[in-house]
Amino acid sequence: MTRAFPDDLWRDFPKTATEFEARFATDEDCRAYWIQARWGGEPSCAHCTSTRVWTIREGTTFECADCGHQTSLTSGTLLEKTHKPLKMWFRAIFEISTRRTGISGKDLQRIMGFGSYKTAWSWLHKLRAAMVGSDSEPLGPFVQIDEALVGGRGGPHKELVLVAAEAGGRVRLAHVENNDKGTCKRFADGQIGTEAHVVTDGHAGYDKKSLGKRPHEAVVQTKAERRKDDAVQGCHWTISLLKRWLLGTHAGAIGAKYLQAYLDEFAFRHNRRKTNGVGRIAARVIEKLVAHPPMTMRQLIDNTRRCRWFASHQVTPA
Ligand SMILES: [Zn+2]
Repeated sequence: MTRAFPDDLWRDFPKTATEFEARFATDEDCRAYWIQARWGGEPSCAHCTSTRVWTIREGTTFECADCGHQTSLTSGTLLEKTHKPLKMWFRAIFEISTRRTGISGKDLQRIMGFGSYKTAWSWLHKLRAAMVGSDSEPLGPFVQIDEALVGGRGGPHKELVLVAAEAGGRVRLAHVENNDKGTCKRFADGQIGTEAHVVTDGHAGYDKKSLGKRPHEAVVQTKAERRKDDAVQGCHWTISLLKRWLLGTHAGAIGAKYLQAYLDEFAFRHNRRKTNGVGRIAARVIEKLVAHPPMTMRQLIDNTRRCRWFASHQVTPA
């Protein structure tokens, strides 16, 4: 049984590298935190939920006094079957959380001293999977929707991204094939509250069919009008931050295949920009890691596929 994440666990999460090194100096320190995050401090048997367990294998596994079942610290989580100590994972989580701009696979490989890029790649994508979907509350009550073409600096091919932004709040981003009514509807239904007030530009994809009963304002503006009072300014800010982020961290060289994974990471960071920074982000990633079911290499690869967003957020079209 996974317990609710104790609310104060993130509060004392280290915020600087020095604090981090002191707090998580040994693998035992990391295991204690993990046990707190996963079981609220009291580990239980994965088979019979008994809490009469003792540690074996240097603290990485619990054996149940009632049924004899052995539960590893990481079994049933995103870190299942990891061969590396938790201390290394905590270091990677700290790195990915402290860098406002995220981290590339090559950087992670260098920092962690991994022999292969493949290992760094799989770690990064597990951590990204943990970042995704930690906030499923639909956007509202005032939401702007717009779209952008991103990627492919200098190249001919750009990818279409739908952007929804709350007034002064959270954002959601979806890599899509096109912006027809069906796509706009799936985006709205998956991300935006059914009673939210929606503002868009004049794009024909947004109408009663795609937005349903949501109050909708389609604002057609000239460039000059937009400069004075941009109706979808939240989206435009988001898009410019996103483009800068993609260029800064990844030199804009994002394959279409991986774009959604980067959009998810961007949204995760953006939506937490006002929270208590590093400690909170890192703690949330750990919270998700303990609650997320295991993923195979195949699933990690599929998870990065083109326009994956709609596959995992499938909404039955009306
Ligand atoms: Zn048991």
